[in-house]
Amino acid sequence: MLNKVALEEHFAIDDTLQDSAGFVPGSYWEELRRRLLDITDDRLKLMDTHGIELTLLSLNAPAIQAIPDRQRAVETARKANDALAAECARHPDRFRGFAALPMQDPDAAAEELRRCVEDLGFVGALVNGFSQDEDRSGGHEPLYYDLPEYRPFWAETARLDVPFYLHPRNPLPEDSRIYDGHPWLLGPTWAFAQETAVHALRLMASGLFDEHPGLQIVLGHLGEGIPAMLWRIDHRNAWVEVPPAYPAQRKLVDYFTENFHLTTSGNFRTQTLIDAMMELGSDRIMFSTDWPFENIDHAADWFDSASISEVDRIKIGSSNARRLFKLED
Ligand code: MN
Repeated sequence: MLNKVALEEHFAIDDTLQDSAGFVPGSYWEELRRRLLDITDDRLKLMDTHGIELTLLSLNAPAIQAIPDRQRAVETARKANDALAAECARHPDRFRGFAALPMQDPDAAAEELRRCVEDLGFVGALVNGFSQDEDRSGGHEPLYYDLPEYRPFWAETARLDVPFYLHPRNPLPEDSRIYDGHPWLLGPTWAFAQETAVHALRLMASGLFDEHPGLQIVLGHLGEGIPAMLWRIDHRNAWVEVPPAYPAQRKLVDYFTENFHLTTSGNFRTQTLIDAMMELGSDRIMFSTDWPFENIDHAADWFDSASISEVDRIKIGSSNARRLFKLED
């Protein structure tokens, strides 16, 4: 399929590069490092070869979220966003940007998002899960964005009318005891999805989307497992009459289907895609690869030949992202 849009596609700057070093064996680091720092060489060639017209770029993980010094988080986010804006300006028809945000400081994050959208032309934000702030338990407390202090940030996101991509990171070591002795479960194998799904469920249950019904959140990896679990979350112990257990006014399925979008990043499985389509419909699913951690050819070869209708392929491969991110404006 030609003219695809891909939107979970990462790069690094020197300040954040080492954050990705642990995700491949040492012998692969040189290749991953090269892929992360490259924007217009191999990346552009692969896009041409595999029918990706437009890539929405975002910083690697956890990057800004794991910088407990607020001032350094603010400065590094600005540096990464300025570098990305310069790359996008060189190839405006091939690359657009997601803002990296210093969520440790909700006011600074809102201001940086405003700057990125209104001054730099970015299409939204991509944030790597919870943030660490050294003023809160020395950075050992994961700050999730359902906390009340984030409501002004969300009001600004709603005002700017741009999507917010909630991207994974690993839990802090003190919150990872369930993985003790099984480090293979960390990262994309399992912990990324568990961590990100819980964060997304916290947002849904918090009442955030009652206050801002227009907010749109994007999840990668075909929904981090939520499509498979959503019915059970809403229907557990259905014979027991109890008052609502969370502040939100509606069932979580309502928020998931009205405020969330999924991408295929790193989860190239037709059965899983079809399950997501049956839960969410094909209007809220978008093609992505997760380059450079996954291969563009693996993603594109799978998607281009997946057993779905051509109508759905065009929506998921291209038109849904163009509409959500207003890419033709
Ligand atoms: Mn990713």
